[in-house]
Amino acid sequence: MKALRIVGERQVVVREKADPRPGPNDVIVQMKASAICGSDLHPYRHPRPADLEGDLIPGHEPSGVIAEVGRDVRGWAVGDRVVVYFRRTCGQCLYCRTGHRNVCVNRRSSYGVGADGSDAEYMQVEAPSLMRLPDDMSFVDGAVIACQAGTAYYPLSRLEASGRDVLIVSGLGPVGLLATTFATAMGARVVGIDPSAPRRDLAAKVGAAYVLDPSAGSIVDQLHARYPDGADKLIETSGSNAAHAVIGDLLKPLGRAAIVGLGSSEFKMPLMRLVHRQITLFGTSIYPDTQMDEIWEFVRRHRISLSSVITNYFPLEQGPEAFRMADTATTGKVCFRFE
Ligand SMILES: [Zn+2]
Ligand SMILES: [Zn+2]
Repeated sequence: MKALRIVGERQVVVREKADPRPGPNDVIVQMKASAICGSDLHPYRHPRPADLEGDLIPGHEPSGVIAEVGRDVRGWAVGDRVVVYFRRTCGQCLYCRTGHRNVCVNRRSSYGVGADGSDAEYMQVEAPSLMRLPDDMSFVDGAVIACQAGTAYYPLSRLEASGRDVLIVSGLGPVGLLATTFATAMGARVVGIDPSAPRRDLAAKVGAAYVLDPSAGSIVDQLHARYPDGADKLIETSGSNAAHAVIGDLLKPLGRAAIVGLGSSEFKMPLMRLVHRQITLFGTSIYPDTQMDEIWEFVRRHRISLSSVITNYFPLEQGPEAFRMADTATTGKVCFRFE
């Protein structure tokens, strides 16, 4: 089969690899859509190829059909449409057993990081990692929800975003755009912040009430010109230290913020703001698979087009071009489509 390999120093190659075979508890998924994530760009930009795991197939946003079923697998059949929960969890710990699989304490890395991922024609998947793709949703919808739509929806549900809120989306990459779409459908007035003009335009298109450019002067002044009291809630997706520093100034007293972005290794904001304004902050990482039914129903009810966050499609053979495009950080999402 054809599969990609990231070699670092901004290079990806298309190579041939043996078709995977299912173990007794695995299935083989024939890939239909696999999207590129911001986190795929970290190894892509890695300066020392020798440090990267040699033969691994990247990709953790898999959507496809089951092509083969292992001997001991129950409940899944050839032809089933599936999305893969990419974090490889234990199924046994307290968190796995209580619907918080995204914080499994025994996780064995992820597909595309510690095991072969989805940028290939076929992928070997442990049966407990499978989630059903509803018949009325496309494979591209599946790829979008597999990582980024879930990552955007879950913190908004924890923030209880509603029509009572002015809600800031800090960073308008794919997760920020999806957060803008969802929060708008939840009724919030969304203010999007990003230095990229094309990304601000995309956010305005999917419902942001205002979009602000942090490179055009004080972002706090820009917000206060529209909302003098500040915002009620905030979701931070950029990972930028400059964005962290102003959270306490953008929010009203008692405001709440969800931190999603991992672009920098430290989080710093002035302690005075945090304490005196009694701001609540929480970190958030992907989503629990128990929330999938709710997300699909929300998407259906609000007629949300998940695939509209994708601006560029490529066949797998054009892997190098696709990664080059994603690396510019000026597009929406980039997605591989098969056939
Ligand atoms: Zn992802
Ligand atoms: Zn676990």
